[in-house]
Order: sequence, then C-alpha cells, then structure tokens
Amino acid sequence: MTAPILVLNCGSSSVKYQMIDMSTETVLAQGLVDKIGLDGSSISHKVGTDKHSIVEPIADHQAALALVVRAFANWGPTLHEAIAVAHRVVHGGETFRQPTLITPTVIAQITALSGLAPLHNPPALAGIAAAQSVLPSVPHVAIFDTAFFATLPAEAYTYAIDRDLASKYQIRKYGFHGTSHGYVSQASANFLGRDISSFNQIICHLGNGASISAIQAGQPIDTSMGLTPVSGLVMGTRSGDVDPGLFAYLERSANMDAVAVDTMLNKHSGMAGMTGGSSDFRDIWAEIRNGDDTARLAMDIYQHRLVSYIGAYMALLGHTDVLVFTAGVGENDHQVRAELVSRLAGFGVKLDPARNTPHNQQATVISTDDSSVTVLVVPTNEELAMARATYKLVEDHA
Ligand code: ADP
Repeated sequence: MTAPILVLNCGSSSVKYQMIDMSTETVLAQGLVDKIGLDGSSISHKVGTDKHSIVEPIADHQAALALVVRAFANWGPTLHEAIAVAHRVVHGGETFRQPTLITPTVIAQITALSGLAPLHNPPALAGIAAAQSVLPSVPHVAIFDTAFFATLPAEAYTYAIDRDLASKYQIRKYGFHGTSHGYVSQASANFLGRDISSFNQIICHLGNGASISAIQAGQPIDTSMGLTPVSGLVMGTRSGDVDPGLFAYLERSANMDAVAVDTMLNKHSGMAGMTGGSSDFRDIWAEIRNGDDTARLAMDIYQHRLVSYIGAYMALLGHTDVLVFTAGVGENDHQVRAELVSRLAGFGVKLDPARNTPHNQQATVISTDDSSVTVLVVPTNEELAMARATYKLVEDHA
C-alpha cells in the first residue's frame, strides 16, 4: 500500500514541494512555485522525467497552493491520496523540540515565535493555512529547523550577555539547518556501517545558507548559526560572524538603523556582497579563472572562516573521526573541498584527488586511506527527513 506524504517548504517568495511515497521512499512528484508576488512568477512540476511548467501571476501563498493543486490535477499524481503534509518551519524557539502535529494552539505558538524569525516563520504560517484549506482532513505536521539543536549544552547555547535580558527575550543560540545536520550525521553513520554513538563528526552544510555542527557520539554539541541564521560561516548573501559593535558604528557613522544593518547582513553580504556580483560558486570560480582578485579574496575569506570553525570544533570534540560535506556547494564543488582540506594538512587530513570528483549523488569517501580524519561527501535530503519524521508521527498516532 502506498503512503504518499506531501512535503512543503514555504519561503518568502517560493514554495518547494515533493510528494514522497513512504512505502518505498520514492519521490512521486516535485516542484517549485517561484517568485510569488513578483514579476515572472511560475510553477514547475516534475513527475518522473516529465517536466511541466506554468508562468502566470501568483499573488500570495494561497494562490501558490491553488496552483500546486492544479499542477497535481493536471499532471498527477493524485494529491488527495496524501496521508499527511509535512511543513518546514524555520524557528521553533524553546517551545518546539520535536516534529509536532499542527493544531490551532501550535499555530498560535509558531505565530508568537515570528519575532525571532520574521523572514521565515510568516511564510511557513501562510503555507500551513493554505495547505490546510486544500487538504483539510489529513494531519499537518511542523518540522522545525531548530529542533535537532535543542539538546545543545548550555555552555554552547548561552550568549555571554545580561542574563535577565536573555531570559526575558529568549536570547540564545538555537541553530538552524537542523533537519539536514540530523539527516546527514545519521546517513554518514549508515554509510560507514557504524553506530552513530560510536564516533564524532563535523558536518559542513554548505549551500546558499551555510552552517557547521560538531556531533559528539550522535549528539550536537555546537553549531555556527545562532539566535538567527545570519551568524557563523560566510554564506551566499549573509555575512556570518561580524563584530556586534558594527550595529552601533553604522548607526553613528552611516545613519543606518538596526533593521537596515540587519537587511544588509542578510541580503547584501556574504559572497554576493564581497564580490558585488553573484553568490553562486560556479560564477565565483569563473571570475577567479578570469583573474578577478576580489573573487579570489572572497573565496579565501570563505575558506578562512570555515577552517577556523573546523579547527574550533576539532578542539571541542577532542577527537574527530569524520568530516562531512553536504548541500549545494559541499556536494558539488570539488575545488572548494580540495582547497579547504589542504588547509587542514597540519592535522593530517588528506584528500584523495581521484576520489574528490565534482558531483556526488551518493555518499562517498574522498580522503586518502591514511588521512587522520575520514572525509565524506554525503548528499543531504531534507525533504526525505521531513517525510520520515512526519510518517513516524502519523503512524505513532494511528
Ligand atoms: P539552499 O541553501 O538554497 O538550499 P543549495 O544547498 O541548493 O542552497 O546550494 C545552492 C548553492 O550551491 C548555489 O548557490 C551554488 O553556489 C552551489 N552549487 C550548486 N551546484 C554547484 C556546482 N555544480 N558547483 C559549484 N557550486 C554549486
């Protein structure tokens, strides 16, 4: 018997979706509604190798979901066979530590957390409302990006700031990309045929957003994103770590208020901000090949930050068995991996150039047999992780 689950990831101007049959864990259909509320909005829908698309104005998430319904009706499979819907919710705050069945109370609680994630939680809420109106009789489940890191030790998640203020406003490190870090750390254990509790790993999730985690015996002990997803590594358009004194300095010197600085750090920084161009690593390498020094410096800054975190996490872990690369850059960019690992030569970490191939659809070892740390590429699959968590919750409640 099939058990299709619809997985929804609603961003501010996009909806990514997949229908996954959990009896076989196969993707029945996947699609993207893009540029919601903007010019040139469209939906693309893929069933097997058949690709379909519609370009038409899409005003909001309600209209986007209506179009998703139309795409399934036109091109299949039958949407109404879905047994549940999984929703990605970025911020679960201190309230949500597990996949959670969505009820009116849960919606109110996620709404209350929107202050912590103003760019991310409102689109998820819009997606939940729209999906519930389309599929009212199946369970809807929220999967939180922060949940995997809910068990971080206090010494890792506490900021060294005024204690009362931190407590009043729930200021702490939450960590994000948790679904990916959780999935990849388990996938690497499966691939190596080892019990996850028997070794330590560092997971580098390098996509457009980027974060790193230190996993000790299966448990995260630190991660680079914090109260919000802007901290830590250099990203596509986000700065990662900067001196917090920047806010007051820019207010005094550039007359920028906190919201303007926050927008700059989230949208106009990182690789795009430093190069003044694209955030895509393929474009940045092309610029470097053309002799662009600014692009080369941006790449060096990216690697410097990442190596600093890897070194810090090696120290926290005491002993590191495995270093994993995942997400768009981590899975596909063999050049970044090669340059980065060469910076770890002092620790005895060595890549095998023949194993470090450009595209990795499956988990692969890319280090030499005598490397001090086993280096892996492990493709992430947040949609499958969300569908699995939802399936388990629905089964447990059946
Ligand atoms: P998101 O954070 O949006 O989920 P992804 O994990 O899909 O991002 O990563 C997207 C990024 O991956 C792109 O911006 C690009 O920099 C990088 N990327 C994708 N494919 C390649 C490739 N073949 N070579 C180098 N970088 C790539």
